[in-house]
Amino acid sequence: MTKQNVVPAEAVAAITAAAAVASSSPLYPYPPPRSFQKKYLSQLDFAGGRIGTWVESMKASSPTHTKAVGAIGAPVDEQSAAWIMRHPSALTKFEQIMSASKGKQIVMFLDYDGTLSPIVEDPDSAFMTDAMRAAVRNVARYFPTAIVTGRCLEKVIDFVGLTELYYAGSHGMDIKGPAKPRHTKAKVYKTLLERTKSTAGAKVENNKFCVSVHFRCVDEKSWGALIEQVRSVMKEYPKLRLTQGRKVLEIRPTIKWDKGKALEFLLESLGFADCKDVMPVYIGDDRTDEDAFKVLRDRGQGLGILVSKFPKETNATYSLQEPTEVKDFLVRLVEWKRPTMKARSKV
Ligand SMILES: [Mg+2]
Repeated sequence: MTKQNVVPAEAVAAITAAAAVASSSPLYPYPPPRSFQKKYLSQLDFAGGRIGTWVESMKASSPTHTKAVGAIGAPVDEQSAAWIMRHPSALTKFEQIMSASKGKQIVMFLDYDGTLSPIVEDPDSAFMTDAMRAAVRNVARYFPTAIVTGRCLEKVIDFVGLTELYYAGSHGMDIKGPAKPRHTKAKVYKTLLERTKSTAGAKVENNKFCVSVHFRCVDEKSWGALIEQVRSVMKEYPKLRLTQGRKVLEIRPTIKWDKGKALEFLLESLGFADCKDVMPVYIGDDRTDEDAFKVLRDRGQGLGILVSKFPKETNATYSLQEPTEVKDFLVRLVEWKRPTMKARSKV
């Protein structure tokens, strides 16, 4: 593959295989099988018990009314104006952005929810419009393009429906590179078996990628005791974390992986690791995208574009208000690139 080419979905397999090689452990291969990814959808991490903190954090990252903005002090309009000065619209500054990209290969990184699709109540209905799909398809014709998402790969590939993109699902990357060697899981499994045997109906399952404690056959009155038993085991393994699925508790490694690492990993996979002539453009709308914006800031390379109607603390340089503006930006990008390509092909 060449740097300029977009990469078909088959190449995703090659990238993910490379990631598996890069992973230090054979226990939690990257990416996980689809059944595993499915299993982890909709899980709630309750092991830390900081539910209130999580809710506050979610509120802070999704202001839906002016009160949240006004709380900083200055009147809302003034704050918005000051913020937009610091993070100007990527559409208004389009020419400036393009002139900064002169002689560089633009590589596009796009978040999905809230960036390519609107945020909707039912996450299973977060569809992107056909116009957005066409815009992304066109962008991918001219620039290497990746979708970087918290969703599992299967889901986002289904939503986007384009084969010519890279896809990076954080759920897949979540299990990359656990620090614990293989025997840990066997030990945890044995300890859990021992510790939960007094709870009638509890079933401990030694899966390929995690240890599960099913409680669908456990009397509801005993759930509290079972949770305590499981948590007592967890205390002995601080590098593991506990998540809850539907009538199942699952134990898996704590992983340090974020969209910033995904961005770096993808740049490397594309052959741009130490390249000076690359300009990554990352567009995203929430806190998880900040890791990617920060990576770009720290690299002093490329630019982050935050999708937000409201002033927010961000490491992004530019802003766009909503997914329709993202589409407009992508369309302009293609319109800007197309004549250059045509001129070149005539030479
Ligand atoms: Mg998002």
